[in-house]
Amino acid sequence: MRDFDYLCPQSLKEALAFLEEHGENCRIIAGGQSLLNILKQGLIAPEVLVDIKSIPELDYVRCDEAGQLRVGAVTTHRALELSPLVRERFGVLADMEQHLASVQIRNWGTIGGNLCIADPTGDPAPPLIAMGGQVTIASTQGERSLAIRDLFVDYYETVVKPQELLTEIVVPPLPERSAVTYAKFRNVEGDSPIVGAAVFLEVDPDGSCLDVRIALGGVAPTPVRAEKAEGILRGKFPGDGLIEKAAEAVADDISPIPDIVASEEYKEKVARVLVKRMLREARERLKG
Ligand SMILES: Cc1cc2nc3c(=O)[nH]c(=O)nc-3n(C[C@H](O)[C@H](O)[C@H](O)COP(=O)(O)OP(=O)(O)OC[C@H]3O[C@@H](n4cnc5c(N)ncnc54)[C@H](O)[C@@H]3O)c2cc1C
Repeated sequence: MRDFDYLCPQSLKEALAFLEEHGENCRIIAGGQSLLNILKQGLIAPEVLVDIKSIPELDYVRCDEAGQLRVGAVTTHRALELSPLVRERFGVLADMEQHLASVQIRNWGTIGGNLCIADPTGDPAPPLIAMGGQVTIASTQGERSLAIRDLFVDYYETVVKPQELLTEIVVPPLPERSAVTYAKFRNVEGDSPIVGAAVFLEVDPDGSCLDVRIALGGVAPTPVRAEKAEGILRGKFPGDGLIEKAAEAVADDISPIPDIVASEEYKEKVARVLVKRMLREARERLKG
C-alpha cells in the first residue's frame, strides 16, 4: 500500500473544499470497511484520503414535514437498524439492516459508503430502489439529486465524481395501501447476499395493482429493476397466477454473472423464487 495524506475535515464545507483541491488524486473514506480492502490489494492508490466519518452534519436519521425519511451519508447501518423512526415508518429498512453482516460491521459501516462502493450484492440498494429512494450529491458547485437506481453505472462504479460527495439518502413516505418487502438468499448467516429482491406494491381500493417496483441485487453488474415483470402486474389484480407469470419474466430483466458461489442458472432461479415470495408477502401484508 503506498503512502497517502490523511485529511480529517470537521464540516461538509471543508470536506468539499478538500475534494475540489485534490480531485482525482483523492478518495473519500467513511468507515473504511470496503475502501481499506481495495487499498491493501493495490487496486487504488490515492495520494489523499478525506475522512468524512466524524462530520456531525452527515450523521442523522429524521423525517421532514413531507414525511420523507432523510438519512445522512455517514449514518451507520446499526443506527438505521435501531432507529425507532425507521422501524415504525420504514420497517423494511430496519429489518434489512438487522440482517446485514454482523453487529460489528453494522456498528461502523455507513449507508453512504455502502451505496458508493456499488457492490452489486449490497443489501440496502434493492429496498431503497423499490421505495423510490433518491440520493443527494454535493460539490463546491452545488447539489444534485438523483434516483438511487441511477446512481450505479457498472460493477463497483457510480456516477459520483471525484470532487463530489454523497450527502443524503431520501425515501418518500409509503402511500396508503402499499407494502414493501425484501429478502435475500445467502449460504452463511452474515455473508453478503447471493441474490437480494425487494418489492414495492401499491393497490387501489379494489385490490388491483396501482404501482409496483421490483429491485434485485446480485443478478447483474449493478442493482436492477425488473421492469418486464412490473409491466405484467401493473393495472391488474395480483393473483397467484399473475405473480407466477411476473416472477418467470424476471429472467428477462437480469444478467447474472456466475462466480465461485453460484452459477448463472442458479442465481436466475433464486431471483425468480425470491420475487415470487416477495410479491406474495407484499400482497398478504396489504390484507393487514
Ligand atoms: C466482513 C464484511 C461483511 C459485509 N457484509 C455485508 C452484507 O452482508 N451486506 C452489505 O450490504 N454489505 C456488507 N458489507 C459492507 C459494509 O457493511 C459497508 O456498508 C461497506 O463496506 C461500506 O463501508 P464504509 O461505510 O466503511 O465505506 P468505505 O469503505 O469507507 O467507502 C466505500 C467506498 O465509498 C466511497 N464513499 C464512502 N462514503 C462516500 C460518500 N458519502 N460519498 C461518496 N463516496 C463515498 C469511498 O471512497 C469508497 O470508494 C460487509 C463488509 C464487511 C467488511
